[in-house]
Parts: sequence; C-alpha cells; structure tokens
Amino acid sequence: MSFQQRKCLGCGDLLPEPFLDLGTPPLVNALVRPEEAHIREAGFPLAVASCQACHLVQLTDLVPPERMFTEYVYFSSYSDSFLAHARDMAESLTARFALGPESRVLEVASNDGYLLQYFKQRNIHVLGVEPARNIAAEAERRGIPTLNCFFGLEAVEKITSGFGQADLIIGNNVLAHVPAINEFLHAVKLCLKPTGAAVFEFPYLKDLLDGTEFDTIYHEHVFYYSLSAVEKLAERAGLQLFDVMYRPVHGGSLRVFLQHQGTHPVTGKVAEFLRAEKASGLTSPERYASFSREVANLKEELRSLLYGLKAAGKRLAAYGAPAKGNTLLNYCEIGTELLKFTVDRSPYKQGLFTPGARLPIRPPEALLKEMPDYTVILPWNLAEEIITQQQEYRRRGGQFIIPIPKPRIA
Ligand SMILES: [Zn+2]
Repeated sequence: MSFQQRKCLGCGDLLPEPFLDLGTPPLVNALVRPEEAHIREAGFPLAVASCQACHLVQLTDLVPPERMFTEYVYFSSYSDSFLAHARDMAESLTARFALGPESRVLEVASNDGYLLQYFKQRNIHVLGVEPARNIAAEAERRGIPTLNCFFGLEAVEKITSGFGQADLIIGNNVLAHVPAINEFLHAVKLCLKPTGAAVFEFPYLKDLLDGTEFDTIYHEHVFYYSLSAVEKLAERAGLQLFDVMYRPVHGGSLRVFLQHQGTHPVTGKVAEFLRAEKASGLTSPERYASFSREVANLKEELRSLLYGLKAAGKRLAAYGAPAKGNTLLNYCEIGTELLKFTVDRSPYKQGLFTPGARLPIRPPEALLKEMPDYTVILPWNLAEEIITQQQEYRRRGGQFIIPIPKPRIA
C-alpha cells in the first residue's frame, strides 16, 4: 500500500538518503481487537530525510491517508492538560484578534471539538473540519458544527458557501499530517478573510532533535517542521509569516501566524527564530547524523534498563497507549516479554492491544490492582500530570520510568 517518494513534497527537489530508518512497523493507531489478535498487522517503511533545498524534514515513504484516519481513536478531551492548553489558546487568540459574536473561527482537524467549544462559549461562530467519522460525530453530539472530510481544495467550496471565509483559521497538530502541503496551504488562503489570520501549532523539529523525541516519528506525521521550512511553504502559497511563538506542549511546539499580506506587522521574532535555527544546525546534515546516533543509543539504554530490572525479579508495565508509544516500543523491540500490560484513560482503547508490541490495554485502575514495580510512561510529555494522578501507586512503592530524552527512573 505504500509507495516510494523520492522528491521533496514541498519544493520538488530530489531528497537525500534518510538520516533515520525506523524499519517497517505497523500503523501506530491501528489498535488490535482481541478477535484480530491472531492476524499479523501490515508493516510500512518508516524513514526520514531532510530536503537540502528547502529544509523540509519528511518521511521518504507514504501510506495513503484514508488508510490511517478512518478509525482514528484519539479523543483530545481525555487529557486535562490538552484542555487547559486549548482554553488558553482560545482566550489569547480571541483577545489578540478582537474576536466577537460576528467573527468566524474555522478549525482544521478539529477532533471532538475540544478547542472550538471555548470559542462557542463566547458566541463566536465556529466550524470544525474533521476527517475521522467517529470523532466528527462525537463533536456534533457535543454541539460543535463539524464537516466530516479532509481539508483541502475540495473542501473550500463546502466551507465558504455555508460558513463563509474565516477571521481565524486554526490547525493544531495538523500540518504534519498533510502530504499535499502546498495544496493545503492554498486552501487555507482561499478560506481566509482578507484581514484574517491562520494559526498553526505543530511539534518543533528543534525539540525533536535536541530531546531525542524520535518516538514522535510515525506514518501519520509526514513532516517535522522547522520555521525555516514553514517560511518557504507559506511563501509558495502566497501567505506571509508574521509571528511565531514557542509553546512548551507536546515536547515543544511552535505556534506560527500566517496572513495574506500586510494586515499585521511582521514581528522581530520571525528573523530571530530563523537565525537561531541556522546557528543550531537545523539546516545542515551533521545535526541529523548525530541525532540518528543518539536514537540508537537510547534504544540500547532503555533495553538494558528494562532487562536489568526484569533480571532482578521486578515486574514491569506501561502507562498510556499513545501513538508515539508504539514507535518507541516497536523500534526498541519491547513487548509483553518485558511489559505485562499498559493502561489508558480512554475507554475506546481499553480491551484492545497496542499495534506491533501487542501490550494489552487496561483501565488505569489496573495499576493499583497489579502493582507492577516499575511503570514506563509512554506519553512522557504528560509525565508530570500522570505521576500526580497516580500518587497512590507511588505511595505503595510503585516507580515510574520516563524513557525520553534519556531513560530514567522518576
Ligand atoms: Zn524541499
């Protein structure tokens, strides 16, 4: 089902050799039902290259998107810190762009309405676009108008004819998912009012490299963005990058602001970030080669830590069944021989198995019931929140392991 991609999806230049090859794991969101447990999942090549012409870091092989999103089981509203982040984002954007009851906010990949609900509470017109059928239905059930389709040129007419052009377009963690990125940004331009702003948030490539966050690499994430790459993509779409902010979420994210041309002044932050990226090697191949070595080291360290504990008679489990956990487990070749099970707060995941590693997913209460000696936190970006929630497990002697950026006992 996958096909070789040899040209940069941004500028069309030929791609160099991948700087990191993670093998051929199954899709991270293809959780396995008990009745399918005897069937081996399909694997797909997972390797990343950095375009030398436009610095866009991307997968070298693609899986068709319709294969990945139709049963996507991620519901944003199950995490407290995501909701707090969403509320803050809605508040700050409403204030900055002086949004009121006449304004229109369009969110691309709106999930279950976790963000738009905060705009709706202020009587602002909202519309979500969400390709996953079950998640779009959940948003509608919660009172958030949602188009169930992929965002792109085909969706423009549907959006502008009914809802109109938007004062604000938001896309949180969506730019990484769109192989046809030039078309996507063109569609953003068409859906944006002449005075409007488009705001995108995505995990920052610099943090991925500096924090050895290789587990955030999986088939659904086609791109890993630096500001240098975003600037070139925006220019190509006829959009202007006018501001950038660093956000300490998802292991480090950037929030970028785009407009048609000239409505808002370009802040000094843009040039400052571009300079810093050049200085830290984001636009040179050496940085990627050293990252690749750090990933190989992390695998060895995590495996020796877990095998050492197992040899000492300790019982091990995991917390969480996030997409990134599957890259981690499958690349590090960790399965039920080391980790007996994992737990997750989402009832949609409980009772299923993680793809590849096949850890059984149980409700969080299983931690206290089974009392494993050590629990590996797979959504390490939420480690603090999880440890706070699991005080009782710790009080009874349970300990946590945080695998990224270096495996450590917390
Ligand atoms: Zn390129």
